[in-house]
Amino acid sequence: MISWQQRKKLINWAGNIEYSTDKLYFPETVEQVQQLVKKYEKLKVLGTRHCFNRIADSTDQMISLKSLDQVISLDTKALRVTVGSGIKYGQLGPYLHEKGFALHNLASLPHISVAGACTTATHGSGVKNGNLSTAVAAIEMVTADGEIIQLSREKDGEHFKAAVVGLGALGVITKVTLDIQPTYMVRQDVYENLSFGQLKNHFDEILSAGYSVSLFTDWQNQNCSEVWVKSRVSEGAKFELTNDFFGAKAATKNLHPIITLSAENCTEQMGVPGPWYDRLPHFRMGFTPSSGKELQAEYFVPYRHGMEAILAVSRLAKQVGPQLMITEIRTIAVDDLWMSPCYHEPCMTIHFTLKQNWNEVSKLLPLIEKELEPFNPKPHWGKLFTMTAKKLQSRYEKLSAFKEVIKHYDPHGKFRNKFLDRNIYGF
Ligand SMILES: Cc1cc2nc3c(=O)[nH]c(=O)nc-3n(C[C@H](O)[C@H](O)[C@H](O)COP(=O)(O)OP(=O)(O)OC[C@H]3O[C@@H](n4cnc5c(N)ncnc54)[C@H](O)[C@@H]3O)c2cc1C
Repeated sequence: MISWQQRKKLINWAGNIEYSTDKLYFPETVEQVQQLVKKYEKLKVLGTRHCFNRIADSTDQMISLKSLDQVISLDTKALRVTVGSGIKYGQLGPYLHEKGFALHNLASLPHISVAGACTTATHGSGVKNGNLSTAVAAIEMVTADGEIIQLSREKDGEHFKAAVVGLGALGVITKVTLDIQPTYMVRQDVYENLSFGQLKNHFDEILSAGYSVSLFTDWQNQNCSEVWVKSRVSEGAKFELTNDFFGAKAATKNLHPIITLSAENCTEQMGVPGPWYDRLPHFRMGFTPSSGKELQAEYFVPYRHGMEAILAVSRLAKQVGPQLMITEIRTIAVDDLWMSPCYHEPCMTIHFTLKQNWNEVSKLLPLIEKELEPFNPKPHWGKLFTMTAKKLQSRYEKLSAFKEVIKHYDPHGKFRNKFLDRNIYGF
């Protein structure tokens, strides 16, 4: 086991968070995870460090499961893959495709760990696609007493629904079993300049025009600067680019969501079919996703209020403009995972990639939250927000039950940190 020995500060991917300890251990086996959990009174797991807030932070010690990144088994009959929890989607995707299989969806980037993504309800887009956690069929976890437990969708109903989007609060996830399906190809068509008027009149049609649809806007001209439509195609299908999409025009080259940036980092567009793992994310493995030096905030609102919520935020165009790099709007199907923002409610998300200027952004987020208030917005667990703990908690009807499950597996708060104290326990 190697502790963190570099002189460099331990920071998150975006560099906006310096973790409160530099004690980081890298267990290489589940037994070593158990030893660490037994040894320390307080501990947090660090995934790939892509969260923008302090959800992963610890003042005591952290462990990284990056060495536990193997595919453990592939069950081609039950359509399940079991992986070490440190594996990144960017590693798992090509492996599955080569074996003839696929996941149902991916986030905008493949660089993130499966466990970190699932425990924070990370999502892609698609009206029929649940967030990434909905693919979880079972997890193995080391709980506060150092014991290993397994929870599965089939056998452990309630505790499973609490644990999958567990916010890192229940224990150290060491293995994840995911549902898979036969592999598929996806084409990506990008259109420029979709007016909010068209969006309002054809909201459902537009957001379900493809398997996964993303709208990008800077809020300045009552339009979406880009619409990314990802469609499943059968291999070898003839590629046909339609020029007009509700008045938006087909792009003539690959584009970055932030139109001024080079599309080199982005997955192939222009309708060229490619494997699911290389089209569903916007950004390519091996390249910097998004812009790099940025902050992110994102709010889930019920899908049925989607257009009203867009129009509400558009009223803040002047205030949002100076801090914004780009907004992305996506959809996520309903699920039954207790702490998922889509629990019993299909959602639309409004995401903000913002300049790395917390002084200004911290003044902007309350304005956005206020404008979205009529729609009971829920912030992304891994991104920045300013709403009170009380408000946040009121939006999770299973919160008390979730706390009971935490108490069951972690009675003395070994995995608690300030983020959980504030947002789950209301300190
Ligand atoms: C450029 C960029 C693009 C993004 N795009 C999207 C997107 O498209 N959709 C979206 O929803 N989100 C997106 N995000 C947010 C991000 O993917 C999620 O917040 C996700 O949690 C990141 O996973 P991670 O492994 O980096 O988590 P970390 O930040 O390392 O940790 C997050 C939480 O997971 C816990 N955790 C990690 N591993 C384990 C484990 N093995 N056992 C128990 N707990 C664990 C940590 O303790 C912590 O509580 C993006 C972020 C960035 C930086």
